[in-house]
Amino acid sequence: MPAPPSTPVKSPMQKALDKLGLRRDIDLALHLPLRYEDETRITRLVDAREGEHIQIEATVVDSEVTLRPRRQLLVRVDDGSEVCTLRFFSFYPALQKALAIGARIRARGEVKGGFQGWTMMHPVTRPATGELPTALTPVYPTVAALPQAYLRKVVASGLSRADLSDTIPAHMMARSGPQIAWHLRQALQFLHHPAPDVALATLDDHSHPAWQRLKLEELLAQQLSQLQSKRERALLRAPVLQPATPHAGLPRVGAPPPAALSEPVEAACPGHDKPALPLHEQLLAALPFTLTAAQRRVVAEIAHDIAQPVPMYRLLQGDVGAGKTVVAALAAAICIEAGAQCALMAPTEILAQQHFGKLVAWLEPLGIQTAWLTGSQKTKERRHMLALIESGEAALVVGTHAVIQDKVQFKQLSLAIIDEQHRFGVAQRLALRQKIGYEGLEPHLLMMTATPIPRTLAMSYYADLDVSTIDELPPGRTPIVTKLVNETRRNEVVERIRGQLAQGRQVYWVCPLIEESEALDLTNATETHAQLSAALPGVRVGLLHSRMPQAEKQAVMSLFTQGQMGVLVSTTVIEVGVDVPNASLMVIEHAERFGLSQLHQLRGRVGRGAAASACVLLYSTGDAPRLGETARARLTAMLETNDGFEIARRDLEIRGPGEFLGARQSGAAMLRFADLATDAHLLEWARQAAPRLLDQHSELAEKHVARWLGGTAEYLKA
Ligand code: ADP
Ligand code: MG
Repeated sequence: MPAPPSTPVKSPMQKALDKLGLRRDIDLALHLPLRYEDETRITRLVDAREGEHIQIEATVVDSEVTLRPRRQLLVRVDDGSEVCTLRFFSFYPALQKALAIGARIRARGEVKGGFQGWTMMHPVTRPATGELPTALTPVYPTVAALPQAYLRKVVASGLSRADLSDTIPAHMMARSGPQIAWHLRQALQFLHHPAPDVALATLDDHSHPAWQRLKLEELLAQQLSQLQSKRERALLRAPVLQPATPHAGLPRVGAPPPAALSEPVEAACPGHDKPALPLHEQLLAALPFTLTAAQRRVVAEIAHDIAQPVPMYRLLQGDVGAGKTVVAALAAAICIEAGAQCALMAPTEILAQQHFGKLVAWLEPLGIQTAWLTGSQKTKERRHMLALIESGEAALVVGTHAVIQDKVQFKQLSLAIIDEQHRFGVAQRLALRQKIGYEGLEPHLLMMTATPIPRTLAMSYYADLDVSTIDELPPGRTPIVTKLVNETRRNEVVERIRGQLAQGRQVYWVCPLIEESEALDLTNATETHAQLSAALPGVRVGLLHSRMPQAEKQAVMSLFTQGQMGVLVSTTVIEVGVDVPNASLMVIEHAERFGLSQLHQLRGRVGRGAAASACVLLYSTGDAPRLGETARARLTAMLETNDGFEIARRDLEIRGPGEFLGARQSGAAMLRFADLATDAHLLEWARQAAPRLLDQHSELAEKHVARWLGGTAEYLKA
């Protein structure tokens, strides 16, 4: 047996370097300064200006520790032009020794003039030996265990050892590149040790060409890695889900699509004279509305994808109320008429329940059996459902996270649909993909979201994803009027509710989470429920919050859905997807505490029918005289636009991409240097350059990705 490899014991500094992700020479070379200090020149005190940051070189002429007004070390130095007092409130004996009378030193800090002459508080001092440096001194991001001086040394040696040869061929930079003449090596050497005459502002805001080069490199690495994973996915096989043709009924798993794709399709029903329409056409015919052009387009995109022998990986985005559910139902119908199984997973039980209700109403009349899976299900019912799923009798499975549990065995899952995909993590998406019942195949994946992804983000973080967008609302909707109302005018809001109820409409009232209410002193849903019940005698006011037992939640929700409840007071459990077209007023209490996309989602619960709808944002400033800046920015955005895409853009602006996507999805700090808001042109270049580099210089592409993403590249592919 070979001896286990001995792991060298790591020093605390080594561990600290690890923590910063600084393992390879190239990692060190790419660890860029936060800011710089100028130690390249000496300013004579006689030339100094009040408040200026300068370095002086002088001789210590006096040194004393005084105790009044508090203990401090006072060192007087003379640079031959004037005298300056260096003042230290905390100091070690070593400093005192270094600053003994007669010592020749350099001191760097802010000089202040006073009636006692110049002073510097806590300057950085060092012996005045050796030449002055010729470049600015870098200050690196670091952690406590890693002193700046040590980090400077290891970074410098990493920089000198690392292979910094260009991976972007010169002609690609020159032809369509953003005209950045700097090579990687030059750029890095400069950014670690810039010449003192550089315009510091261009380093601060990363607009300097050296920074541009690095951002471009980083974006290219990201694009390359996404493109690679997209191409790897293209090598996987998926069941071919053709719209029904005669002899449908068995999945034509892995079979190439038949040549005559465009022939009219008719499902054969042996024993019947009249050929029945395929399921999806039957569904279309039975709908009480016709699809919008946008819905038709996205259905066609999905139908095209799932008829291919490679797995679909598609995001369906559309504003709240745009009608994504029916698109999912049509995709399910196409899958089922091809003889395969479809699963739909939603993040909350209420939402799953609602989808289930809708899909059953649409699909069961067509003879499709649907199974239902949630965590709160009784064992007996659950067993029954599991059996239906395993035997394939249930062609459609709707549920919550329960759908991806180990026990669930599909016969032939071929299409997996995830609603409100941003509520699920990478691991859950993977788990659903692994549920497929076929050897060696992957299911098609359709992810739906009402939080549209701004273009730059989609290009950057989802470059490996195909995106379908429903960019129009069904006709006949009246825009929602949004009002901002101070909490002190709560009574007027109650008046408004009465008005809506009198017209036979229904009202939502949303409160922030109960869990947080104790800590944050929020009016909780229970209290509001009691208040509104008292204020609206004879009106059924319901309460819905996350701590209620599931059965109770469902009972309340169905009363509201059926129009038997006038007002629904709720925590954000109703946030996603609930669809009650008769509801015309949405009141959001403590709106200042909600995130922007959450507010927009909540508002989207109304305005679903033809009635004029309104959203009232009740806000409170608490003890403060005014709202905080970001809260104000969010509420203003809500007042100014109803457009989910614009909301998403503003949300991105307010929160930044990491938070916008949630750390879980963005892979934390995927972009260290580039900024999607300001570097869109670099991103565009990288997007176009990535396939060319991969096709024409695959070795350079490999090297580029390894250099930039190292060990993290695998994670990004999940
Ligand atoms: P979301 O995209 O937010 O999931 P839904 O799928 O819940 O939206 O649809 C919102 C409402 O619009 C539902 O009541 C749905 O039946 C209805 N709807 C969907 N498509 C159309 C259409 N083309 N014409 C009219 N109403 C539609
Ligand atoms: Mg929905």
